[in-house]
Amino acid sequence: MQTTAAVVREHGGPFTIEDLELDAPRHNEVRVRLVATGICHTDAIVREGVYPTPLPAVLGHEGAGVVEAIGDSVTSVKPGDHVVLAAAYCGHCARCRRGQMAYCENLLEADFGGRRLDGTTAFTDAEGAVVSSHFFGQSAFATYTNAVEESVVRVDPDVPLEHLGPLGCGFNTGAGTVLNELKPEVGSALAVFGAGAVGSAAIMAAKVADCAIIVAIDIHDSRLELARELGATHVINSRAEDVAARLSEITGGSGLDNVVDTTGRPELLRQAAESLGIRGTVALVGAARAGTDVSFEIGSSLVKGWTFKTVVQGSSVPQVFIPQLIQLWKDGRFPMEKLMKDYSLSQINDGFADSASGAVVKPVILF
Ligand code: NAD
Repeated sequence: MQTTAAVVREHGGPFTIEDLELDAPRHNEVRVRLVATGICHTDAIVREGVYPTPLPAVLGHEGAGVVEAIGDSVTSVKPGDHVVLAAAYCGHCARCRRGQMAYCENLLEADFGGRRLDGTTAFTDAEGAVVSSHFFGQSAFATYTNAVEESVVRVDPDVPLEHLGPLGCGFNTGAGTVLNELKPEVGSALAVFGAGAVGSAAIMAAKVADCAIIVAIDIHDSRLELARELGATHVINSRAEDVAARLSEITGGSGLDNVVDTTGRPELLRQAAESLGIRGTVALVGAARAGTDVSFEIGSSLVKGWTFKTVVQGSSVPQVFIPQLIQLWKDGRFPMEKLMKDYSLSQINDGFADSASGAVVKPVILF
């Protein structure tokens, strides 16, 4: 069948809207009619070539839609079900067997390989050339796609699908890093470096976890204002203020219990580590180019017993955690719609530009 998709053909190049041929779903796949797909910073860096998905490719990994058809071995959904599409995992490696799907040993192949595991792609262009598919198991910048069952999360049909796409990656990542990985104590102090889509979800989650001090750090005042609305108790514009001094003042000198870093910037990570209190943790979520180094003071910081860790996809099992986030949204405790702005598929390049400039936190393509 035909699908209309945003195709990226060269690193740094624009998305072009093209009609592609979509093949039949394989036995383990679900054909989804997309309703909405969020734009994530990870789409932007893959377009730049930071991760090795072969081009041309259909990106998009925060899809929400309706199941049109299922392969023979699919059991978790049926046609007509409403679904969110999340990151893919293999389901059979040692990590997946432990329930740690976010750390799947085959993650790079399953999410960034641009191919099914048998080497085929679901899309061909008008010239008959192959186009990478299965980005994060889904390639959701398309009106129709074939997603692997592991990416598919069945959701409550009463909740508007238009709002749900970003649960597939950005919101799952920010909220999961706090609620699944850091698990902050009630009354503790947490800072979020970078109040974009992932950071905003971390702020909402920190409020859910009853942190007493929630600090948002960014370079855009508009994002910091929004962070306050979402639950930040303090905000710091890192261009205008001394971050370490302000954090020390805010915590009364005792330091932070947890930091979520969504910037991937070495100088901020160092400041984050220096701002920790005893037994504090820095969780790095933000992506950086391969080869990026960061150095930490390890002399006097030894006695703090602190932790640095990297966190993938909020350490979540999407089929468990995404319905929990939807419940929080229903309860008014995860007001994610405040972050979103809608675009049509033909406006996708504007959505990417508005995310990069800081004008919009979470652009969403509505099909
Ligand atoms: P985003 O662009 O919406 O947010 C990044 C924020 O960092 C922006 O608000 C920006 O203004 C801020 N920032 C940049 N430089 C800064 C500085 N010097 N000081 C303070 N703030 C600064 O991006 P996002 O969608 O929220 O994604 C954040 C990062 O997380 C990206 O690198 C993305 O690739 C990555 N990511 C990782 C995972 C994972 O599993 N680890 C999942 C999703 C996204």
